[in-house]
Amino acid sequence: MKTVAIETLGCKLSFAESSTYAREFEAAGYGIVPCSEPADIYVVNTCSVTAHADKKGRNFIARLHRRAPEARIIVTGCQAQLKAAQLAALDGVWAVVGSQYKADLVKIATASAPDRRVFVEPIASSHNYFPAHSTTGRTRAFLKVQDGCDYHCTYCTVPLARGDSRNPSIASVVEQARDIAAAGFKEVVITGVNTGDFGKSTGESFFDLLKALCEVEGIERYRISSIEPNLLTDEIVDWIAGGTKILPHFHIPLQSGCDRILAAMHRRYNTDFFRRKIEYVRSRIDNVFFGIDVIVGFPGESDADFETTRRFLEEIRPAFIHIFPYSRRADTPAAQMSGQVAENVKAARVQALEALCDRLHAEFYAANRGRREQVLFESTEKNGKMFGYSRNYIRVERDYDPALVGQIVEVEL
Ligand code: SF4
Repeated sequence: MKTVAIETLGCKLSFAESSTYAREFEAAGYGIVPCSEPADIYVVNTCSVTAHADKKGRNFIARLHRRAPEARIIVTGCQAQLKAAQLAALDGVWAVVGSQYKADLVKIATASAPDRRVFVEPIASSHNYFPAHSTTGRTRAFLKVQDGCDYHCTYCTVPLARGDSRNPSIASVVEQARDIAAAGFKEVVITGVNTGDFGKSTGESFFDLLKALCEVEGIERYRISSIEPNLLTDEIVDWIAGGTKILPHFHIPLQSGCDRILAAMHRRYNTDFFRRKIEYVRSRIDNVFFGIDVIVGFPGESDADFETTRRFLEEIRPAFIHIFPYSRRADTPAAQMSGQVAENVKAARVQALEALCDRLHAEFYAANRGRREQVLFESTEKNGKMFGYSRNYIRVERDYDPALVGQIVEVEL
């Protein structure tokens, strides 16, 4: 049997797409093996969100080729769309597959001799949609409901790689959720580039999607992977507060706690709006886990601006901060802005927020100690232990018990 190994270097969305490629390869008669093992075909699903991600992708391909010089390497993902020529020039790369050709990836990878090596079109002409969901692991599945973004934040390269905001119909997403339930999964992470923007291309709404998904039998919990603050409407919050399968865990991008920097980023809110949103959610839903994205060192961010951001985070007290040093991406407006911040200054700011994040995370855990919570236990066994996550994303560890794998169990935290 011929084999294929797939490595995902990107986000949850890429993970869902990789899992879909794996099912398609299996349907074509291929065996799936880990990337550490010999394979006939390697698919590298790249990321390009930062310069570091670009480098990681190139290094990974070089290592693969050294280890398996005879294997076909297929490169896809955001970097494939943005840097096709450079990737095609790397030793061992059989084909580069861009956004519009995702549905053809397996055909391209298994062709006896493709008529070309670069399958990439300018993204502006891309309005196709590649449906995807993950079915690896045994407890939590990732369901892609949306792709692309129309927001054009000045630092962001994602719309250049994934195109305009678009989505499939609610009916087709529900169909995929039923497949996920039939495969035995109890929890689904709803993912997209700008997930809350769902509905734009079908005249439907994200709220209606959530309501429809909650009707799917077998799926007991949903997490929203990430949602822009302006799209987490009070109507949605009120509905979740009334008791649904949507968990009290929100990942919301803030990016800066300084209004001047938010305006330069072209974000669609200011700190006052963001603060009121967090307060409103807390007033309606108890014990919410907030994960907040922040970029430090955006062009023009002074020490005082950074301190404003740090103080704002202290005030809103998220349970976790996802910290990203600003990365200058080609063809984005921010790359041309004056006041680019030195790398050592960014590193110091990352460190300062990491210390704050550690403290806030510990405080969130301490505030939950002693509460009773529903935990979904996962299959991994490590040193005789197993772990799972509570509804509000607290990691729980206990002695391994195979009977609890994939089960939702009430525990005292
Ligand atoms: S909303 Fe997110 S994906 Fe869209 S442009 Fe802004 S940062 Fe990029």
